[in-house]
Amino acid sequence: MLNFTDSSFPDPAKAKSALQKSYFGKDNSLTSYYNELTRGATTFKPASGGEGGVIGPINIDMSAAGCDTGKMNGLTQKALSDQGLTWGKNFDHLSMVFPGGKAGCSFGGLGAVGGGQTWVPTGDGSVDQTVLAHEFGHNFGYMHQNRIRCASTDLSTCKDTGENSRKTVMGGGGLGVGITAPEQIHSKWLSDKEAVKVTKSGTYTLRSLYGSGKGLRALDIPVGSDRLVVELRGASGTLDKNLKGVHAYRVQNNRYGDARLVDTDRNADHQPDSGPANADSDSLKAGTKLTDKANKVEVKVVKSGSGQATVAVSLDGVPAPAQAAPSTAEGPEAQTGSSTPASGAEDETGARDGVRAKGGAETKGGADLAATGGDSSTMWSLTAGGVVLFAAGGAFVVRSRRKRTASSGAHAR
Ligand SMILES: [Zn+2]
Repeated sequence: MLNFTDSSFPDPAKAKSALQKSYFGKDNSLTSYYNELTRGATTFKPASGGEGGVIGPINIDMSAAGCDTGKMNGLTQKALSDQGLTWGKNFDHLSMVFPGGKAGCSFGGLGAVGGGQTWVPTGDGSVDQTVLAHEFGHNFGYMHQNRIRCASTDLSTCKDTGENSRKTVMGGGGLGVGITAPEQIHSKWLSDKEAVKVTKSGTYTLRSLYGSGKGLRALDIPVGSDRLVVELRGASGTLDKNLKGVHAYRVQNNRYGDARLVDTDRNADHQPDSGPANADSDSLKAGTKLTDKANKVEVKVVKSGSGQATVAVSLDGVPAPAQAAPSTAEGPEAQTGSSTPASGAEDETGARDGVRAKGGAETKGGADLAATGGDSSTMWSLTAGGVVLFAAGGAFVVRSRRKRTASSGAHAR
């Protein structure tokens, strides 16, 4: 918690209590969101040096006006260092929460992509879970997720739109939406049995991306030098209440944190960019065939519904073998251990072999960024060491702040 010289928390105790709940509470918190999303692979714990993870208010020697995020970051880290708190040793993420009134920030939240900092203006200390989920998503290395629109189901016809994918908290997905399979793959939150890298033609049964239990949750298909990731979404716990069906995402240069939804709606009578949507708008219905002729790839949705979908993948022009009868499952399905949807009774640990240790995908701050690979190192090298910042203008409106980033990034470290 930060106080400016001209603006402070009116009731620090009340704000502190609200922040403890927003970040670390049992329900509706940053922690509960990522616990459910990662099925326990990554969690947030209160850092030492504060009360329940909340430190301050720290009085920093700057006025609120202008919302200088770089200066806030510098002064806050200096103050923490003076208290003997070291990045990487005492904490891995630094979320700067401050009274937003006089600061007049143009964002509802700001997060460093692949870094550990977030900036969160507030009134009385209450912070929306969606804002925290989104900004910490940037910390995990996710960019804003958009959609490509295709003139047909031929993938060579797809073009960038700059519109939200609406399938993730990083793409205007709305309240309680999870993240997409490519983002899960980026963070290594799916084992290699849950996200199968397809190397030859086969027919696969997908289960929903979220929920406990065994089964295949994502297909990762080579398309030339790109990848096509296929997932099935459906309500599970507090996630994806408003989402269902099969989706495909294009991944370029192995940047799974910067995937694009494949939108084959020719008429472009798509849903508005944010707000409530039909749960299965943009989903690939049974019979849909995505093709890439140059790379001889064909992906066909054979069946979709009731928490399960069948997808046939043809590589190098080799037809996908027909699926074995359910009672004698063979081939690709047999590798997944089970083709049944989540029962909820499975042993969660047993179902998650191959997933990296807790926090394995997290970065510890600036010093480690160059070594984390994937999106974060790329982004950092692109901006010559500056922090890459993206802002959410509100809970559901996600706006790019690339421009602003360049200038504030220079001060951010
Ligand atoms: Zn953002």
